[in-house]
Amino acid sequence: MATGTQTFRNYIGGEWVDAASGETFESTSPADGETIGVFPRSAAEDVDRAVEAAKAAFEEWRLVPAPKRGEILFDLARVLEREKPALTDLMTREMGKVRSEAGGDVQEAIDITYYMAGEGRRLFGQTTPSELRDKWNMSVRMPIGVVGAITPWNFPIAIPSWKLIPALVCGNTVVLKPATDTPLLAERFVELMVEAGIPAGVVNIVHGGGGTVGERLVRHPDVPVITLTGSRETGVAVLQSAAENLKHVHLELGGKNAIIVMDDADLDLAVEGIVWSAFGTSGQRCTAASRVIAHEAIYDALQSRLVAAAERLRLGPGWEEDTDVGPVINQAAVEKIHAYTKIGSGEGARLLTGGEIASDGELAKGFFYRPTIFGDVDPQMRIAQEEIFGPTTALIRVGDFDEAIRVSNGIRYGLSSSIFTRDVNKAFRAMRDLQAGITYVNAGTIGAEVHLPFGGTKATGNGHREAGQAALDVFTEWKSIYVDYSGRLQKAQIDVAG
Ligand code: NAD
Repeated sequence: MATGTQTFRNYIGGEWVDAASGETFESTSPADGETIGVFPRSAAEDVDRAVEAAKAAFEEWRLVPAPKRGEILFDLARVLEREKPALTDLMTREMGKVRSEAGGDVQEAIDITYYMAGEGRRLFGQTTPSELRDKWNMSVRMPIGVVGAITPWNFPIAIPSWKLIPALVCGNTVVLKPATDTPLLAERFVELMVEAGIPAGVVNIVHGGGGTVGERLVRHPDVPVITLTGSRETGVAVLQSAAENLKHVHLELGGKNAIIVMDDADLDLAVEGIVWSAFGTSGQRCTAASRVIAHEAIYDALQSRLVAAAERLRLGPGWEEDTDVGPVINQAAVEKIHAYTKIGSGEGARLLTGGEIASDGELAKGFFYRPTIFGDVDPQMRIAQEEIFGPTTALIRVGDFDEAIRVSNGIRYGLSSSIFTRDVNKAFRAMRDLQAGITYVNAGTIGAEVHLPFGGTKATGNGHREAGQAALDVFTEWKSIYVDYSGRLQKAQIDVAG
């Protein structure tokens, strides 16, 4: 696989094909504008073909024994391990994140694939006694059908894998629509699935925009499950479009995550955790720490250490070994992040560092933004309420623990949360009272592991979870089965006498 002006295709029903219209778009590197590849700009008719192929393949795939499906996924995990260095390198170019983080993204895919492959020999249901004699009761997980998977660009391999792998082990087939900013990584992922032995039609990929390919997938009557990771606004639109067909819709949306630093915290550890959580992946993580809630007793000390640490970070292309912070994804992202800097200053927050587009030397070729910290931020300011999705964080001063919890919870989102404290009582109260799908104690807001449920409360989603056993609930339906071996008609709730 070479990159550059090479043209890539959709994968539908076991064949690599162009968009029916023949139209294309380019993927370029956010670090230097290099062309990564040319991809089909698909439309509704391409989606329809992919859904038809996936629907036909479902009839066979659902009957493949789950342990066998798991074995194919074990093979895929080994292929992904082999390809980890190449995928990592490609990710630093196409998406922009630094090499160590790109390796972590690929590792997440490897981890979920091994984990879910094992699920092929579990997929447990339940057996339970009947209220009647000579009757057997059980519940089993059933695959649902064609899954439409719509993914963002910030975890270009990990997020598709978190959706496709559990969907497949459960016996569903998939049509993947990846983000247009990272099509090659998704394409490579599908290529490797084919190499591992996933049969034709079971996995399909259709490249193109959200308003065309995504929208058609969401509205298609033969796609009963939609799994989307993206912004809150996209989630609302998808939920509305899917309502007509009463689809299962799984949404993983935005965040406005906070790290609380109490007066008894290990400040050096807290600074490390904040820098990693606020500026890792250039702040483009749904779990990024875009707020820091600091107890007034340590606020000044924390602020000065944090600013010094942020100013030591080196910007550059992800593939250079000494880069700490890579580019943001595109021009629109730079503009949005910079607009929030102006909003923050306009609202009266104090710009402590950063706040500008970085364009010196080679950086001018890409989309770089300086790590930005605002101080004296009021919890109600827009920079403390809205998802910026860039390397910007807001320092908020609080007087005590209860206020810290209130401020942390005082947003529409509920994805990740964190507290740095040495007080075990405060840690446990925070674990109980923070309104978020994830809480870390003495760690930043990022660092999820694949065998635990991942997702958020409130406007971060609609109550489902990705990864872990919870993912199986998205991709299966429960069927309850009653087997009566009494040889007579027994009526539940009516023939109650033993
Ligand atoms: P986005 O919402 O712009 O796009 C996500 C995907 O949805 C893309 O593939 C896009 O083409 C598609 N899409 C857009 N409009 C659509 C429509 N009307 N119908 C169907 N599909 C449509 O998000 P993005 O910019 O790619 O990613 C950033 C967002 O994703 C942030 O809000 C971030 O917090 C969120 N995110 C959430 C999680 C999580 O697990 N909660 C993880 C990563 C990213």
